Amino acid sequence: MNCIVLVKQVPDISNMPPNAWDKEKGTLKRGVLDNVLNPLDLQALTLAHRMTGENDRMGAKIVCLTMGPPQAKEVLWDSIARGVDEAVLLTDRAFAGADTIATSYALAQAIRKIEKDLFQGNRDYIIVAGMQSTDGDTAQVPPQIAEELGIEHVAYVQGFEWKSGTLHVNRIGPRGIETLTPDTFPILITTPVWAEPLYRSFRRARWARLQKLHEWNATLVHAAKDRIGLEGSRTQVCRIFSPSEMRNHECLFPASMDELVVEIEKRYHSRAQAATSATEEKYRVGERTPTYQGEVWVYVEQEDGTVQNVSLELISKASELAASLNQKVGAVLLGDNVEPLCDLLISHGADKVYLGEHPLLQDFLPMPYKKTVSDLVFEHKPQIVLFGATPLGRELAPRIAYCTRSGLTADCTKLDIGDFAKGETNLTGVLKQTRPALGGNIMATIMTKGSDCQMATVRPGVMSLKPADPLRQGKIVRVAPHLRKEDVHLAIVSVESQRSKQSLAEAEIIVAGGRGLGSRMNYDQYVEPLAESLQRLLKGRTELGASRMAVEDGLRGHDHQVGQTGQTVRPKLYVAVGISGAVQHVSGMQHSDTIVAINKDPHARIFNYAHFGISQDFQVAVPALIEAAEKKHAEKKHAERKIA
Ligand SMILES: Cc1cc2nc3c(=O)[nH]c(=O)nc-3n(C[C@H](O)[C@H](O)[C@H](O)COP(=O)(O)OP(=O)(O)OC[C@H]3O[C@@H](n4cnc5c(N)ncnc54)[C@H](O)[C@@H]3O)c2cc1C
Repeated sequence: MNCIVLVKQVPDISNMPPNAWDKEKGTLKRGVLDNVLNPLDLQALTLAHRMTGENDRMGAKIVCLTMGPPQAKEVLWDSIARGVDEAVLLTDRAFAGADTIATSYALAQAIRKIEKDLFQGNRDYIIVAGMQSTDGDTAQVPPQIAEELGIEHVAYVQGFEWKSGTLHVNRIGPRGIETLTPDTFPILITTPVWAEPLYRSFRRARWARLQKLHEWNATLVHAAKDRIGLEGSRTQVCRIFSPSEMRNHECLFPASMDELVVEIEKRYHSRAQAATSATEEKYRVGERTPTYQGEVWVYVEQEDGTVQNVSLELISKASELAASLNQKVGAVLLGDNVEPLCDLLISHGADKVYLGEHPLLQDFLPMPYKKTVSDLVFEHKPQIVLFGATPLGRELAPRIAYCTRSGLTADCTKLDIGDFAKGETNLTGVLKQTRPALGGNIMATIMTKGSDCQMATVRPGVMSLKPADPLRQGKIVRVAPHLRKEDVHLAIVSVESQRSKQSLAEAEIIVAGGRGLGSRMNYDQYVEPLAESLQRLLKGRTELGASRMAVEDGLRGHDHQVGQTGQTVRPKLYVAVGISGAVQHVSGMQHSDTIVAINKDPHARIFNYAHFGISQDFQVAVPALIEAAEKKHAEKKHAERKIA
C-alpha cells in the first residue's frame, strides 16, 4: 500500500524570542522565527512508515507533499531523511494568499498528479496528515482535500491494524475509541498524536540533501486559476490584534486571604461577568439590506440521544446574531429516532428544527452527514451555519463548507454581526469571526467573501448558555435525507467506550496546577485539598485541571489539560496554581467568570488575565487560602444553625 504524507513548514511558535512580537502593529515578525516541520506531520510520517510495512515495504512507496515557497524544500529533505522515498514541492506565486479551501484544492490537484505519475495510476494508497498545523490550527485542509477528491476520511486516528488484508483504523470518535474499516481506497486519515517520532540518522540526513525533489507549479497540476490563491479563497483576514485587547479588567491583589474568599464568594453567586456582557450594546441591521440573506443555523450535535451542551450554547449565540439581522434561528438535527430532542432545541431559542432521520445517520460518519447537511444548505440557503469545534464538528464542518463553497473559520472565540468597509469592499451585517492564530499569539478577525454562506466552528464553553424557556414555540421541518448504503465506504466495526470521568467542560469550579508545583506529590497535597475546600464552601461541581507542562511532567493525565490542545473551559471559578499564563493555556480558560492566580513571579502573564492575584509561593498561599475558605465555611454553617 502506497502512502502520501502531507507536510507543512511552520514558524516555531514554541520557541518565540522576545523580539518576535511587534507591539506597535500587534503582529508577529515572522522572519524572526525559525521554520520547522509541523510537529503533528512528524507523527503522520511515523504512521505512514508503519502503515507501509516499515522496513519491509514490498515495493510500497511513501511520497511526501508540501505547498509553499522554495524554502519549504527544507521540510521535504527532512522528511526524506526520516524515511520518505520521494518528495513533491508545489510552488507557484499564484498560490499565495490561499485560505484552507484554495490550499486544499491545489493539494488535491497535486495528489491527482502523484497518483498518475508516481503511482502509475494505482489507486491503492492512503493519504496521511497531521490533524492540524501549529500556525493555522484549523484542522480544515485534510477533510477538504478528501472532499475535493470525493473520498472517505477518518480523523483523530490513534492506531491501525491490518487484519487479513483489511485495514482497521482506530479513531477517537464521539463515543470513545471506534474501529473503522474502509472498503475502498484511496482514503485520507489524520492523526492527532503517534508514539515515537521517526528519527533521522546523520548519514541519511546528508544523503537526503542529494535527492532530487519534484517541483510542480499551478500549470503542471492543472489548477484552475479562479480556485487558487486569493481568488479561490472564501475567507479574508480583516484585522489582526494582540490577545491583550480582548481583556476588559485589571487584576486585583487582595490584602488578605479572608478578603479574597469574600470576593470569590460574592462573584461566584452573582456571576458578575455575565452581567457585564449583558449590558453590551447590540448591533441592529435595521432598515438596511444586509450583504447576506437567510436564516442563522446551528448544527446540533447529539450523542446517543443527548444534545451536546455546545450546540445549546451556539443556539443561544445564534439567537443573538439572528436578532441583529431580523432573522430566524434554525437548528439542524440529524440521527435516527431523535425527534424527542426537538423541544429542547426550541426551548433554547430555535425557531425551526430541520429534522433529518435515517438509519444511515445512526452513527456519525462524515459522508452521509456531510451530504444531508449540504443538501439542506443548498435548498434553504442559510446565511450563517455554526458548528461546535468538537472532534465531530471539526471533521464535518470543513467538508460541508468545501462542498457548499462557503467560507469557514475554525475555533472562533468571538462572533459578532457588523459592517466592514475597506477599499472597494463594503459589507453590511456580516459575521465577524474572531479567533486566536499562531498558537494564540495573535487574534484575527475574519470575514467570508465570495460565497452565500458564512460558517464557523466554536469550542465548547466559549459562548454562554442562556436559560431554556419551556413555553417557547417553534416549528419542526422534516427532511428526507437522500442516502444510499452503496455511497458509504466506511463502516464502524467496534466501539470501546472511553467516556472520560472528568467533565472539565461542565465544571463550575476548576482548580488547576502547573509546572510550578514541581511534583505530583505537591499537586496531590496542595491542589486537591484546595479544590475540596472551595467545593465545600461554594457547593459547585468541582474538577481538577492542569497546564500542558503539568501533564507532560506527569502531574495529571491529558483529560485534565486545559488549553489549546486540551479542553476549553468556562467555569464560574478558575484557580491557577503555578501556571505561567502562556497563550495556549489562556485560550482555554480566559472566559471563566472569575480567575484567581497564585504565582510567585509578580510579572507572570497569568496576572494579565486574572481577576484576583496572589503573588506568593504556592506552599504559603494555598494553605492560607484553604484556611480562609474553611473559616468562612464554618462561619456560614454556624449562621445557618443559628437561623434553624
Ligand atoms: C502548539 C502548542 C499547543 C499548546 N497547548 C497547550 C495547552 O493546551 N495547554 C497548556 O497549558 N499549554 C499548552 N502549550 C504549552 C504552553 O506554551 C506552555 O508551555 C505551558 O502552558 C506552560 O505550562 P506551565 O504554566 O505549567 O509551566 P511554566 O511556563 O513553566 O510556568 C510555571 C509557573 O509556575 C510559577 N512557579 C514556579 N514555582 C512556583 C512556586 N513555588 N509557587 C508559585 N508559583 C511558582 C512560575 O513563576 C511560572 O510562572 C502549548 C504549546 C504549543 C506550542
